[in-house]
Order: sequence, then structure tokens, then C-alpha cells
Amino acid sequence: MKALLQRALSAKPHRFKVTAIALAVTGALVAILSCSSHDAPANGDGAASTIDPDLAQAIDSIQAIDNHAHPVLAPPLDATEKEFDALPVSSMEPQSDPPALRSDFPLLGAAWKALYGFDSPPPLDAAGLQRLNEARGRVKAQHGEQYPAWVLDQAKIGTMLANRVAMGAGVEPPRFLWVPYVDALLFPLDNTGMAAASPDRRQFFALEELVRRRYLYAAKLSAPPPTLNAYLAQVVTPTLERQKAGGAVAEKFEVAYLRSFDFSDPPRAQVENIYARWIRGGTPDANDYKLLQDFLFRYIAAECGRLGMAVHLHAMAGAGSYFSITGVNPLLLEPVFNDPRLRRTNFVLLHGGWPYVREVGSLLQKPNVYLDISGQDLLLTPRTEAQWLREWLESEPEKVLFGSDGYPYSDEMGWPESTWIASRNARQALGIALTGMLEDGEITRNHAEEIARRVLRGNAEALYHLKQ
Ligand SMILES: [Zn+2]
Repeated sequence: MKALLQRALSAKPHRFKVTAIALAVTGALVAILSCSSHDAPANGDGAASTIDPDLAQAIDSIQAIDNHAHPVLAPPLDATEKEFDALPVSSMEPQSDPPALRSDFPLLGAAWKALYGFDSPPPLDAAGLQRLNEARGRVKAQHGEQYPAWVLDQAKIGTMLANRVAMGAGVEPPRFLWVPYVDALLFPLDNTGMAAASPDRRQFFALEELVRRRYLYAAKLSAPPPTLNAYLAQVVTPTLERQKAGGAVAEKFEVAYLRSFDFSDPPRAQVENIYARWIRGGTPDANDYKLLQDFLFRYIAAECGRLGMAVHLHAMAGAGSYFSITGVNPLLLEPVFNDPRLRRTNFVLLHGGWPYVREVGSLLQKPNVYLDISGQDLLLTPRTEAQWLREWLESEPEKVLFGSDGYPYSDEMGWPESTWIASRNARQALGIALTGMLEDGEITRNHAEEIARRVLRGNAEALYHLKQ
């Protein structure tokens, strides 16, 4: 999802084109949207028209565990560091901008009010941005290295899983738990052919090469070893073990940006030959290379299971205009989930699988499959999200996790704003879905509160063994 944001960052020409009318509308919407969560508007789709006020209060009081986000290090490092993402590209090809990532998104004002104490949000122009940055600067100076933890407090998040290349100042346990990136291990051969697929993939593979070199360096190697067995023993397994020893609770694949979820199960001998042939150089045959990647994906997933780390997969359409929406269909992963050798590995499909929300829901019946709602609770409205959230909660309430996908999307929407908005929206979506179930007599009030606590916290505690 990260890359969405960079595109938003690159869309700077739009930033100051907000008209006076738009500002007036924005102000009015902020006044509406900043109300407490039980004031969700009515609609005629059969869902709860308002959130039960007692349930809303209970939901608001829960200190959440955020399954997926990209926190930025504490000041002053936050001004320059880039390790909050393995693929922090700044110039993806243009795509349609979702309204939530535009500079006139109404909830931005509500977030600024909550985070920085504005009575009324600053205007969306150069002077307003300066006022905003001055207010941010005061809060950062006040909290220093504790600023990232302060951000979590404002969003009612007790613990955040930090999907970062490396951890650092202010983004450390116990408030932040590490989820490193593992895609670079999937692509040990010459990636010229893979990179040629699209302008976006050209950038992505160049960035993956940096991570790959970092992992080789940590393994005290300057190039991948000549045999597959040596590559697994000297690079892949030691990288995963080193990250586990460094506190990692899961490994993150962004592979959907790089190729499809169609992972076959080739014989090891065939893959050993492919590796040995192409590791010496040259652009590998595309079919051969796919088999090697397929093998490595299953090997890494099995190792994560052995080491007690979950596997996170970016699983939604986008970002980027060249993103393969066909390739991210989660049903393509069913053979992986059904592989008996991988039943010790827990997989978490990030971002709720959108638009494959029903497909992803059906996969939750498998004992090793979970999903989170990160990103959805920023990019979609609570009422829209609540439709399939209710469906998931009616069938698999132990498999759904809250996540924010907090990320430094733009000058206006930093990781504090996106985290705060997602936490607010997720609680509203939960409130709408659970109030509907309550009104229809499907669950008791106690059961509704229990499900809310599971989604916001308890399911992550169980999955990552966080409970004392
Ligand atoms: Zn993300």
C-alpha cells in the first residue's frame, strides 16, 4: 500500500489548488466527522443506522494492537530516514487518486485537531501547512524520543507491529514490534527480465536489490553462493534467524507488487538445477525463474513456521497503475494454505484482500489463515467496510485483526494522521457491524463487546503470543 502514498507525495501540483468553496465544505465535514463514533450517519442498506452508544463507548476504550503500520523514527531522524518501507519509491506512474489520499480529505482536519490541538484546522495552503508544521514541531520537542509512543497513545493503540527494514530510535519494543521484509530473498538471480515488466517494477527491483545486498552483507557474502543448498543454508535461513533474534514477530512479503500469488510446488532437484545454471549470470528464462521463486516462497514460509513467525502478505489491489489486480487474487494462494508442510505457518492477508473481500473471507476457515483491515480503514468509509466486516465476523471472529497501515503519505498526512484516522474509522466500522448483529438478535451485548476486543486486540495477542 505504501506506494500509494508516494504517488500522493508526487502529486504536489494539486496541493495548493484547494478553492474557498472546498475549504468551506471541508470545514463543515470536519465538524460532522469529528463527532464521537456513535453518530455514524443513517443509510438504507439494512445495516445499523447508528452505533449503539454503550457499544461505541466500549469499543473506544480498547487499547488496540495494530497489526500493520509503517511508523517513522523519533525526531530528528524522522526528517530524513527512509527505512519505514522497503520500496519507498517517489515517482510511480500516475493512477487515480483515492479521495482519502488527497490534500482536501475532510478527516485530515479532525486528525490535526485531535493530535495538535487546533480549535479549527489550518487552511490547506502554504501558510496553513506552515502552521501545521509549527504545531507538530512543538509536540515533537515536548516528547522527543517518546514521540512515536505518544502518537500511539493519541490513536488508542497500545502496541504497533512496525513493518520496517530496521527498527530504531523511538520505534522499539515494547510499544513497537518488528515485521521485516523478506521479498529480496525470493529473487537471487539477474532481475533484468522481471524489472522490464513495467516502469513501476523497474523501480521496485532496483530497490529490492538494495535490500538483497544488505542481507548478503549481513551473511558476510558479496554475491549469492553457487548452489541452492548453500543459498538456503548461508543466506535465507540465517537472515530469517537473525531477524527472529532481533525481535521479529512476522515476515512481510510485498511480492504482489513484483509477481502473482500463483506459487507452484516444483521438485527440489529441478530447482537446484535452475539455480546452479543461472546464478552464474545471464537473464534467466522466465519459466525457470518462476519455479525457483515458487520453491523459495514455500521454503521461507516453512522456515517462518519453524521459527514461530507469521507470514504477512500485501493482499489488495494497488498501489500503482501497473499493479496486477488479477495476480493478487487470494484464492491463488489456496494451494499454499493447503500444503500440509505449511500448516505450522500462520498467514495474515493484509488490507482485507480488497476487492476480493468474499474470497478472502472464505479462506479464513483454514486454520492457518488470518486477515487484517489495515488500509481499508483509511481508504474506505466505515460504512462501506462494515458490510464485509460483518460477514467475516459472523463466520470467523477469531481471524480478523485491526491494522492501520499508518504511513507518511504526504506532507499533510503523516504517519500520525493516517494512524489516527484508521483507528477512528476501524472502531466505527466495528460499531456499525456489531450493532447490526446486535439489533438482529445474532449476538448478545457481551458477545459484541467480546468480538470488538478480539478484533482490536485479542486475536493479535493469540496469534503473536503477546499475552503475559
Ligand atoms: Zn503497509
